[in-house]
Amino acid sequence: MSKFLSIIFCKCPKCGISDMFKYSSFNIFNFITMHPECPSCKVNFEPEPGFYLGAMYVSYLVNSFIFLLTALMLTFYFDKSIIFTFITVGILSILVLPYTLRISRVIWLYIN
Ligand SMILES: [Zn+2]
Repeated sequence: MSKFLSIIFCKCPKCGISDMFKYSSFNIFNFITMHPECPSCKVNFEPEPGFYLGAMYVSYLVNSFIFLLTALMLTFYFDKSIIFTFITVGILSILVLPYTLRISRVIWLYIN
């Protein structure tokens, strides 16, 4: 599996086989729970305490890209009102939160 697909599907950065997270992103209460190490190749998913604090910068970039793209498309391409755009982006931010948190952690681990 390519690195891009491994990131999209939240796979281990070393072997690309096992999932990094224990539960689905649709599991509202445990969507961010990770395996401590890869079940296949035993690579450590938390190299040091607080390792994933840097993932919030990645999360900021990912969310900004998604929300800005959505707002620009709604405003200029679909010609929607600014109130509709704000409400839509607000609802979208809640809906994509579990996945963007997970993908930010995965990208951060791949970077490091
Ligand atoms: Zn692995």
